[in-house]
Amino acid sequence: MVHLKSERELELVRASADLVSRTLGEVARCIAPGVTTLELDDIAEQFVRDNGAEPAFKGYVANGLPPFPATLCVSVNDAVVHGIPDRYCLREGDLVSIDCGVRLNGFYGDSAYTFAVGEASDEDARLCRITFEALNLGMAAAQDSARVGDIGHIVQRHCEAAGYGVVRELVGHGIGRKLHEDPQVPNVGRPGRGRRIRCGATICIEPMVNRGTSHVTTDEDGWTIRTADGTPSAHYEHMVAITLDQPEILTTFAYIEEVVEQPPYWLGNVTHD
Ligand code: MG
Ligand code: MG
Repeated sequence: MVHLKSERELELVRASADLVSRTLGEVARCIAPGVTTLELDDIAEQFVRDNGAEPAFKGYVANGLPPFPATLCVSVNDAVVHGIPDRYCLREGDLVSIDCGVRLNGFYGDSAYTFAVGEASDEDARLCRITFEALNLGMAAAQDSARVGDIGHIVQRHCEAAGYGVVRELVGHGIGRKLHEDPQVPNVGRPGRGRRIRCGATICIEPMVNRGTSHVTTDEDGWTIRTADGTPSAHYEHMVAITLDQPEILTTFAYIEEVVEQPPYWLGNVTHD
């Protein structure tokens, strides 16, 4: 069942969305060659707790797996999502996807961003730009009375036209008092199909897009999802509230853009065909 938020609940969701956005901004300041993914996780956890919230992913249990051990999912290069922070040192040219969840005043926030460490290759920059554009197209389709298939279709079409693989196994979702609520929001679909979304719904739209095949594998840790062919992957996630007017984007990348001088999707000389 899709839980539609009252104006008061929406205020609380906005606060959680703002905190998760600010947390990603803090992490963005520290992304550089030589930094370990565990150091990024420590920074995020401290910031979340200093702001009176709890990390949402830490201790998260799914499908009989060991509880997720960290505040951030940090997924480097061919890791798509759910990477566990460890002693790995970021290197120049890495593509690192950071996903963060918080729980503040009983409501969840969830957002993700893919960063280039140092300078991105043209190919990686193009992957980021197309994925970011797909997120924006998906959000624009999140209109009152639209269906989740409308969102999935436009995301899928944009990414596949660029020659990329869209991951099927993982999907966007409703969010509120639970991290994952109905409806599921796949990144593929057909127009006019799937659950209807209504004014008051709050959803996460989060395309996970691979430079090669859409197929993925899972590491022995049970969490880390990787591209089956070893190609890099990108992941951008925003929280959106459905309104009677234009969708309200609840999270923001503005805190990231303050510190990342040239987000990969701004780079020139990459063309979309
Ligand atoms: Mg997320
Ligand atoms: Mg999510």
